[in-house]
Amino acid sequence: MNLILLGPPGAGKGTQAKRLEDKFSIAQLSTGDMLRAEVSSGSELGVTAKKLMEAGELVPDSLVIGIISGRIDDEDCKNGFILDGFPRTEAQAEALDEMLSSKELKLNKVVQLVVDEEALVERVTGRYTCAKCGNGYHDKFQQPSKEGVCDNCGSEEFKRRADDNEETVRTRLRAYHEQTAPIIPYYEAKGLMERVDGMADIEDVTKQLERILEAA
Ligand code: ADP
Ligand code: ADP
Ligand code: ZN
Repeated sequence: MNLILLGPPGAGKGTQAKRLEDKFSIAQLSTGDMLRAEVSSGSELGVTAKKLMEAGELVPDSLVIGIISGRIDDEDCKNGFILDGFPRTEAQAEALDEMLSSKELKLNKVVQLVVDEEALVERVTGRYTCAKCGNGYHDKFQQPSKEGVCDNCGSEEFKRRADDNEETVRTRLRAYHEQTAPIIPYYEAKGLMERVDGMADIEDVTKQLERILEAA
């Protein structure tokens, strides 16, 4: 099962990809997470990406295409993968097609998480994660059951992304509308596109996704 989760920043791609990973034994491939790992390691690629990410702009296609291509060959992708945050441009979508056909793989579904524009800024600016295990939370919508303690690993340390501020979110939303939304018709034409109501609560969105994947 090879799937793309498509949607603007804050739509719930990461939250849902993590929930589907175990259920379907497939791997979440988040280019955002991979790029943040490159930034932390101080690699040459990370240095190039850092400034663009902080400004809310996309990093060059060649750079993300390179990191995804290597990652799809890893053992944990043998049952399939959920692409989270990739492809984000028409050039990336075309490169993905070439990459998959050269590996004799195909996409089963592309699922768009549909969310009201006004909700996105609030979702992104309230987002934080556990510093130890990466579990995702939100100030208002997804609080740990015991305040200040990660549900998943018990850690009391949390972090927020530098680009999750209002100004950068608006730039990222613009990038989504200008560069990413144009790939929707590309997948519609291939008959792969499905839509999910991303405004529903987290559990309900997971159920909608499970229904689509079970039918795929
Ligand atoms: P979000 O989950 O909020 O949409 P991501 O973690 O996916 O954000 O991405 C954070 C940043 O990383 C983006 O603003 C962009 O700078 C960079 N990035 C991630 N994926 C891509 C991609 N496929 N193409 C270009 N830039 C990307
Ligand atoms: P994306 O990966 O698409 O940028 P995330 O999955 O990181 O988005 O979600 C952004 C924030 O919104 C997180 O803090 C998450 O807890 C919260 N969130 C995700 N899905 C929902 C939902 N259906 N309802 C309310 N809040 C949500
Ligand atoms: Zn944790």
